[in-house]
Amino acid sequence: MPATAVDSHCHLDLIADSLAEDGYPNIEVDAELAAAAAVGITRVVQVGVDVASSQWAAELAQRHPDVLAMVALHPNEAGAGAATEGALAEINRLAALPRVRGIGETGLDHFRTGEDGWAIQEQSFRAHIDIAKRHGIALMIHTRDAYEDMLRVLDEEGAPENTVLHCYSSDAETARRCLDRGLVLSFSGTVTFSNATATAQAAAITPLDQMLVETDAPFLTPMPFRGRPNGPYLTPYTIRALAELTGTDLATLCQRLTATAERVFGPWP
Ligand SMILES: [Zn+2]
Ligand SMILES: [Zn+2]
Repeated sequence: MPATAVDSHCHLDLIADSLAEDGYPNIEVDAELAAAAAVGITRVVQVGVDVASSQWAAELAQRHPDVLAMVALHPNEAGAGAATEGALAEINRLAALPRVRGIGETGLDHFRTGEDGWAIQEQSFRAHIDIAKRHGIALMIHTRDAYEDMLRVLDEEGAPENTVLHCYSSDAETARRCLDRGLVLSFSGTVTFSNATATAQAAAITPLDQMLVETDAPFLTPMPFRGRPNGPYLTPYTIRALAELTGTDLATLCQRLTATAERVFGPWP
């Protein structure tokens, strides 16, 4: 790539897990980060989904200069009852650490969580919005089959200044409603699957100062590697697809994605 860029959402702990099944061996994580840096992805955002992975993310960001952390209880964890008072208190404690720059991933997932879990999921989402605001850091939202309810909750609570929809996967019309609210859309490898999809059309209308790129690794591997575990080192394939969809040259896009990431998450070094 002609310039460096940022993977704004990944799960290095899950990559390490899929490589070596016992715990979180730092050596694999460091190798993964080195492989990413070698292709120009010199910065990543490590995202938590429960208390243990949020603590792990905060520790990794503390020791590795390429990594910033986000901490949260994933909506599907929350829907299963994980957003206890104690768990939320721990997320709030981690949120105060200097290398923790956002609350995520939180949000609403009506695909994986059944209807009986929606009320506690929404309660958890509201609590996470409150934590992000209290610490003045970003909010990273996961939404699946729940865009209407997600926007309703954001409107009721008031979105934090820097709010990101991770793995944006709806159409251009919904994108417009999110962009009008000042939200940032983070695009994953799914935009490489076909440039005719609704999500690709959404990317095409997204201003560069409201656009981020992510892997959500080890999930959502971009073409032409679909089927193998994803890693931050594959981010350039998604960036190239976004360059084509937005009609932006690659170097400019890398610089703009980095600038947006620094505005949202703050500086890395
Ligand atoms: Zn997610
Ligand atoms: Zn994720």
